[in-house]
Amino acid sequence: MSLDLKIQAYQKNIPLSFYDLEKQLVGLRAEIDWIADVPANSLILIIQRLGQAYKAFYNSGRGYPKFQSKKKSSCIPFRGKKSINDIRQISETSFILPKIGVVRVFKDRPICGQITNATITKEIDKYYLHIYCETELKPLKTCDNQVGIDVGLANFAVCSNGDFIDHPKFHEGSLQKLRIAQRKLSRAKKRGKNWYKQVAVIQKIYQKTRRQRSDFLHKVSCDLIQTNGFISVEKLNIKGLVRSNLSTQIYDSGWYDFRRMLKYKSELYGRTYFEVDPRYSSQECNSCGHRAAENRPSQSIFRCVNCGHSDHADLNASKNLLRRGHRLLAQSTDSSQRLAKELVA
Ligand SMILES: [Zn+2]
Repeated sequence: MSLDLKIQAYQKNIPLSFYDLEKQLVGLRAEIDWIADVPANSLILIIQRLGQAYKAFYNSGRGYPKFQSKKKSSCIPFRGKKSINDIRQISETSFILPKIGVVRVFKDRPICGQITNATITKEIDKYYLHIYCETELKPLKTCDNQVGIDVGLANFAVCSNGDFIDHPKFHEGSLQKLRIAQRKLSRAKKRGKNWYKQVAVIQKIYQKTRRQRSDFLHKVSCDLIQTNGFISVEKLNIKGLVRSNLSTQIYDSGWYDFRRMLKYKSELYGRTYFEVDPRYSSQECNSCGHRAAENRPSQSIFRCVNCGHSDHADLNASKNLLRRGHRLLAQSTDSSQRLAKELVA
């Protein structure tokens, strides 16, 4: 509805603000039942999201915002003190939600602390109630271990301490199932009952892969954060990589999410985290610093032509990344010391 107005305004070149849309909302709520049935704050949040979609469209040349059908629209956020305070847990497995009433849930962990936010989402054929709480963080023990991590295609990650983490390749594992499901889909009558069923089957296969991947990445990143106080990873140039025909594998490995998790978990638990320039890290000798393409005669072998040092190629690279992290740390403490001196003077 708001998008409809926005499109008209865009075509006529009239500026239309978030506040205009909010005003329109009041009228709509009086007229249309299903809009009145949704908490007002949730609608405002949706309008704000529409605003963000427009900003993305104007600023970064992303696509023009699209309509979402009532069928597809898959998220009801609760916001505002009142609607969140109205959320009540009445038993182990049921909640009272504002405007919705009692819902029964399968709960995967107990709710602890103050509820700060809640959302209902729909994924394929199930509804999920997400409850966000503010709790106290249990700090981790301080830890002197340091690690450089080389992320790659042969191994998911190689750590400078000698750990090799295999690629889980969840997507590859699901390909056979996907092929069968897609064949069935192509035989079903388009938009018929069985066709929709089969679409859901395919969506579920993707969903499972997504969840497996996310579970794997959380486990690996948690492990690294728990056992290391200093983490140095190569900076990722996703755009460059995606262009290089490896996009499916990169997507499958979740490199981007892996870094994102490492970063926010480091911040949460007070670990030092650096993303360093990876250029030539695979050609540089970790022992003498000599840099040459000939140092790496094959994918997995590193043999320095200058000093004869030899190592697994990715292990050598991960050690270089750790060293580069140290350099960045030294630079940042240098500049902060300089700043402190200037402030004193
Ligand atoms: Zn060397």
